[in-house]
Amino acid sequence: MSEARGPIYTPVELLARLVAFDTTSHCSNLGIIAFIEDYLLQHGVLSRRVASSDGQKSSLYTTIGPEGEGGVALSGHTDVVPVDGQTWTSDPFTLRAAGGRLYGRGSADMKGFLAAVLAAVPDFKRRRLATPIHIAFSYDEEIGCVGVRPMIAELGKLLPRPRMVIVGEPTSMQVVDAHKGPVRWQVEVKGRAAHSSMATLGVNAITYAARLIAEIERIESDLKRTARDERFDPPYATLQVTKVEGGTASNIVPVSCSFGFEVRALPGLDPASIEARLRHFAEARCLPEMSAVAPEADISIRRTNAVPPFGADRTSEVVALALKLTGQNETHAVSYATEAGLFQDAGSPAVVCGPGDIAQAHTADEWIAETEIAKCMGFLERLGNWAEA
Ligand SMILES: [Zn+2]
Repeated sequence: MSEARGPIYTPVELLARLVAFDTTSHCSNLGIIAFIEDYLLQHGVLSRRVASSDGQKSSLYTTIGPEGEGGVALSGHTDVVPVDGQTWTSDPFTLRAAGGRLYGRGSADMKGFLAAVLAAVPDFKRRRLATPIHIAFSYDEEIGCVGVRPMIAELGKLLPRPRMVIVGEPTSMQVVDAHKGPVRWQVEVKGRAAHSSMATLGVNAITYAARLIAEIERIESDLKRTARDERFDPPYATLQVTKVEGGTASNIVPVSCSFGFEVRALPGLDPASIEARLRHFAEARCLPEMSAVAPEADISIRRTNAVPPFGADRTSEVVALALKLTGQNETHAVSYATEAGLFQDAGSPAVVCGPGDIAQAHTADEWIAETEIAKCMGFLERLGNWAEA
């Protein structure tokens, strides 16, 4: 095969190109995917797309080095969170350099990592890799690690399964081997409407929703006492009611109330146990009273999204590799979520390590330090050395 010679960009130049695509999660990401695909192709690297069911978005997966299973995948997401309601000093989709910082939506979370990986491609290509390096870029991460799932489902089928995965979410290039997992539910309470002067004829949906919410608070305090892990901040699973809607007017017993809640589960906590406890409470402590007045009364509890918590094995090969490549000797646990648990549950052990500080993610005037990009480039160069050996 003839050696392709594509354009050589610095990681900062690539970051500027990537930031210029508005890839807010509700937008199509096909523009950025086409740009990346074309860039890779110019370096002689063929990639595959895994499209969303409506065809508006796509993941991209590629392998540099020997074909087949094994190797290390570098995983990142192309989408960013909205800028709505935020006050930016300059256009969020035009990268701006000032005082050693690079400002732009997604600079830290996580186009900085994508840019570093793409900038390292010519170096990966130049080497005779003994171990493959895969690139796995997804979409819709910011709305619950949605887009990476169809790509993970193709591992071992359409796409070669990596032996290890490095997720480049911003960790300031520290090695993160555990994170919490957000799981979300929607609860609908159906009572019976009545004139509020004749309240006994109705079933107040808001009152029963309040009972359920109080039970959610008790579940949290029980977990706070019984299931702690001091590596995390806060060191227990948190439960939050995030949205409530209910009622019609001030003189009507409300017929319906719905609310959403989430748990940020620690590794080892089965979210199904929380759902089971709430269901039991609804069946034992709410529904009998409700149905005595209104047989049509109902409580439905529906899980809407789940990102599994992540905890690497003590003997994890990829954690050891990340520590070696970063020259560190300790790992960290974080409270935000990534696709690491999804890869791990699918048989590809993962670790989280990427440039930038999570404190800047999702903020107005989001930025990444140029030194972080440089650290990540060093990391990728050492990964290349390791994969060549
Ligand atoms: Zn992210």
